[in-house]
Amino acid sequence: MRKPKSKSRELRKQRRFAEQEEISLLNEWIEFQKPDSGSNPLSLPPLPSNAPVGRLSDGTFSRYAGSTKFSELPISKKTMDGLKKSDYVSMTEIQRASLPHALCGRDILGAAKTGSGKTLAFVIPVLEKLHRERWGHEDGVGCVIISPTRELAGQLFDVLKAVGRYHNLSAGLLIGGRKDVDTEKERVNELNILVCTPGRLLQHMDETLSFDCSQLQVLVLDEADRILDVGFKKTLNAIISQLPKHRQTLLFSATQTKSVQDLARLSLKDPEYVGVHEKSTTSTPDRLQQTAMIVPLEQKLDMLWSFIKAHLNSKILVFLSSCKQVKFVFEAFKKLRPGIPLKCLHGKMKQGKRMVIYSQFCEKRSVLFSTDVASRGLDFNKAVDWVVQVDCPEDVASYIHRVGRTARYASVGRSVLFLTPSEIKMLEKLQEAKVPVQFIKANNKRLQPVSGLLSALLVKDSDLQDLAKKAFVTYLRSIHIQKDKEVFDVMKLPIDEFSASMGLPMTPKLRFLNQKIKGKKMSGMQLDNADKDIANLATGFQGRSGRTKRKARYWPATRVLKKKKLKINIHRPVGTRVVFDEEGNTLPPLARVADAKNVDNSSLLDQDERGVEASDKEDKAQDRQRRREKRIKGMKWKKQTMDKEEDGDDEDDSGSEGERMGDRKRKRQRYILIVTVMMARHRGQR
Ligand code: ADP
Ligand code: MG
Repeated sequence: MRKPKSKSRELRKQRRFAEQEEISLLNEWIEFQKPDSGSNPLSLPPLPSNAPVGRLSDGTFSRYAGSTKFSELPISKKTMDGLKKSDYVSMTEIQRASLPHALCGRDILGAAKTGSGKTLAFVIPVLEKLHRERWGHEDGVGCVIISPTRELAGQLFDVLKAVGRYHNLSAGLLIGGRKDVDTEKERVNELNILVCTPGRLLQHMDETLSFDCSQLQVLVLDEADRILDVGFKKTLNAIISQLPKHRQTLLFSATQTKSVQDLARLSLKDPEYVGVHEKSTTSTPDRLQQTAMIVPLEQKLDMLWSFIKAHLNSKILVFLSSCKQVKFVFEAFKKLRPGIPLKCLHGKMKQGKRMVIYSQFCEKRSVLFSTDVASRGLDFNKAVDWVVQVDCPEDVASYIHRVGRTARYASVGRSVLFLTPSEIKMLEKLQEAKVPVQFIKANNKRLQPVSGLLSALLVKDSDLQDLAKKAFVTYLRSIHIQKDKEVFDVMKLPIDEFSASMGLPMTPKLRFLNQKIKGKKMSGMQLDNADKDIANLATGFQGRSGRTKRKARYWPATRVLKKKKLKINIHRPVGTRVVFDEEGNTLPPLARVADAKNVDNSSLLDQDERGVEASDKEDKAQDRQRRREKRIKGMKWKKQTMDKEEDGDDEDDSGSEGERMGDRKRKRQRYILIVTVMMARHRGQR
């Protein structure tokens, strides 16, 4: 009975020894053939096809910068087996250019076109770093991978699971949208690699007592420019302030930031700028065929309907500017039964449903109406045939990411952009940014009008009519608050015709436009599709966290914690603490809001709210004035605070996503508090 036990112990010992040997060899190899800082591995000749790899007979090592296959890199057998299992053999350009630098521990600022394989360019170095450090269960969090959206985080987690399947590391997906954050809190410290959205990560940093990132080895920001932009600024700063400075940082995107300020925030150390397509004549994939056409606003729905009817056998991704737009077009078209399954995806949907829709769209031929929540990073399993941008993207970067959902890796794809006549300037901007868009003329003869059908529907269905009104107002508001005034001018849009084209019997009132006509200027804001405050349950790597635990027992005697754990970070900015509710929505502490009488309101809000707040500042000032007048007339306070504007709760819907969940709740709370402050003042005056 005892013999097999000792035999297996012996086997394990041998395995550990072999692993240690392998790690020593990898370390020597990496050091020996380290590419020069700033050198471009792509400029080196590839290794001859049958050249020996690893340690050579003369005691030296083979060159890995310039290699074309994963098998020529100094990576562990476990990672290599994971790659083979997923059929990854040859590297893509961004992988060839960045992996040699990343494997020797350098910070990377990687830019490469959409669909060019950036995920493996950071997943491999993460696995290898932790493997070579012999990272284990009791070492805690060794790597954090941050994604701007939940769906992308889920996808990155899948790639990590697939390539890392043979490693004894644990990983968890920490994203918003689930209420069982308590279960997550219990397990988060057992995880070695966290794949997360910024809000949920910060929530754990703030609320999970034992949460500890002080030993972090690698920080990855996928879609880095998005995570570094204003929408996530406060959250990211708070996260960074709690991470050790001594770490490897990997940043990847198709539209990379080079802002010195951004990079300073991340304390990058001599980062390698890896821009594999910088010299390319185009900034989008070559296999992508892009077209744009002028579509008057009042014909957009006709054009979209006709397009769908003409492509019933395709997989089509349709981008609209706001959640309300998406909901309306989806609900209305669904009732008209075009002959192809329709789906919709936006940030105000429950997380479970979002995941289901996402995977259904991966599998089946259908039309997916979406906000920009699907614009970044997603690699829909079976290729998307068409990307249709019904509403103009806010800028060129957003355009590049949207069309990048098709023509991925080696596949082809097509895209079409609808521009209203007043948005024609966008074409110039795209051309300046090396985006090869072919301008085509719409064939109006083949246009199938849908407006008549919509008005018949809306007459019978008051809910749909309500949705149409909201979609109408939000669309115009989204144009009104766009930053780029050269492209977006709400005053040039045929508002009544647009309303009629949606099937609305009357044009809804637009108070913000009346103000504009009166010559009042309102501050613009960038549409923000952030997705920070939503979450999912932490899952063990390969569902084998139990096994990882058991394995860890063989090590403790020899294992020393890599660094002293820092429980309190004294550098953490004071006075900026964000409070979360059960669902992970950020709630500014009441004290901060109550103090608002002395401070600029906008500085007190979460970054995601701030955009909305900025654009609506003027509205709110007016609103307050109106309420004050009403109050003087002796009307009840409470009723006034709840007064709805004619466009109701649409204010925070300008294409924004999960970040703003709970905005309405907070907004109402703020109203009440502001009013309370005013009441106090009022009493003081008397
Ligand atoms: P990006 O992040 O640059 O937009 P992804 O990392 O999502 O691109 O990869 C795009 C697609 O290319 C994915 O389906 C991925 O599986 C595939 N891919 C990436 N690298 C390779 C490779 N070396 N060999 C084969 N397919 C690859
Ligand atoms: Mg990507």
